[in-house]
Amino acid sequence: MTLIDVEKLKVDHPLLNQLIALEEVCWFNPAVTCVSEALPYVGLDVQDIQDASDRLARFAPFLALAFPETAKTNGFIESELVDIPAMKQCLEAHYGTEIAGRLMLKKDSHLPISGSIKARGGIYEVLAHAEKLATEAGLLSVSDDYSQLYSDTFRDFFRQYSIAVGSTGNLGMSIGIMSAKLGFSVSVHMSADARAWKKQKLREHGVNVVEYEQDYGVAVEKGRKEAEKDPRCFFIDDENSRTLFLGYSVAGERLKKQFEAQGITVDDKHPLFVYLPCGVGGGPGGVAFGLKMAFGDHVHCIFAEPTHSPCMLLGVHTGLHDAISVQDIGLDNLTAADGLAVGRASGFVGRAMERMLDGYFTLSDQHMYRLLGQLAQTEGIELEPSALAGMPGPVHVSRDHDYAVRMRLDQQKMRNATHLVWATGGGMVPPEEMASYLAKSGVDIVS
Ligand SMILES: *Cc1c(COP(=O)(O)O)cnc(C)c1O
Repeated sequence: MTLIDVEKLKVDHPLLNQLIALEEVCWFNPAVTCVSEALPYVGLDVQDIQDASDRLARFAPFLALAFPETAKTNGFIESELVDIPAMKQCLEAHYGTEIAGRLMLKKDSHLPISGSIKARGGIYEVLAHAEKLATEAGLLSVSDDYSQLYSDTFRDFFRQYSIAVGSTGNLGMSIGIMSAKLGFSVSVHMSADARAWKKQKLREHGVNVVEYEQDYGVAVEKGRKEAEKDPRCFFIDDENSRTLFLGYSVAGERLKKQFEAQGITVDDKHPLFVYLPCGVGGGPGGVAFGLKMAFGDHVHCIFAEPTHSPCMLLGVHTGLHDAISVQDIGLDNLTAADGLAVGRASGFVGRAMERMLDGYFTLSDQHMYRLLGQLAQTEGIELEPSALAGMPGPVHVSRDHDYAVRMRLDQQKMRNATHLVWATGGGMVPPEEMASYLAKSGVDIVS
């Protein structure tokens, strides 16, 4: 491991002083460029997203059977897109900033099966692996009806194989529950910050939960080492997986259809701003890639991170990507935001996506809690703290004059804008836990 000269870095990148002081920051990357110039760096294209989309369609009949809660969407795992006008007013009043355009929420928090954005990538990767094993064994062909996977024959087949993953909670939930349902024996290696109720739920599904005292990075490393010993074990690598990334990316075309159905235009005169909470980067990176492929340069993606874990901002801003961690600059990587307590960003995602991402901002845990209370109060929607990380995004965009000028976002366009906050989790939080979140918000909730 190379030694990081923090003093020198601070001179070259003064923003680091603010990160180290745990100040909330916002940085719009001046190196952002158009899709056509940025795409070659991703190494994936629309055809890869189409393959993922087709694969999910093949599995839909299986999912509708195995998870009856997905039957009403015919086995497609998709979330609602809703307006949150009262929250918009609340933000404007609280920050004293007018937000031009419309504010919406993408409720991945309420995705079936695992109640978080991980129901996109995590589940997709398990399905892709299952399909590969079954087709290679001659038991399945892509033209078959995949509802047959919901059978003892296939469960007995998959039982010979295992799946392992390192997780702070939500990824483990998605991969654990889906793997167990197919019949795999599955181990989830969990970091110290993982919630007790998530471990409990996984154990109820027959998942082997291995607990560690250390953080996410350690859980991943231990999980990877365990899996290496067993050739029949597949390790899902959250940090570098293209498959996971593509599972998330299908959200782009899905959102496009939802906008069309609701009569919402996204084009040169109607920009779309999407605010995505970022942990290791695969989820927001994959979704942002899908959005760019669906809406081109008319969509602007902005990542949000906790002040204690700004790994992606740090990696992209310094250009060091996964060669630097938040611990290297003295931060503790401790946050109440599940899924966002990541010290070192994915090098793959940072390098692939940096030219397509407009900006990054951080916020404190207390800030997330307050927004959690305000959303519950104004809209009656309850999320977990991490899912609120994107919420200040429209305020940052509305305030930054230089950014608006550079991106040629005039007032007329901004009045036609849609701001979409990606709510990434919370749908399965037990009521007692939610009550304690609400209590921490400092907001009086009148019901
Ligand atoms: C995992 C997660 C994220 C971020 O996804 P990454 O792929 O780790 O960047 C955001 N919010 C929640 C609730 C998550 O579980």
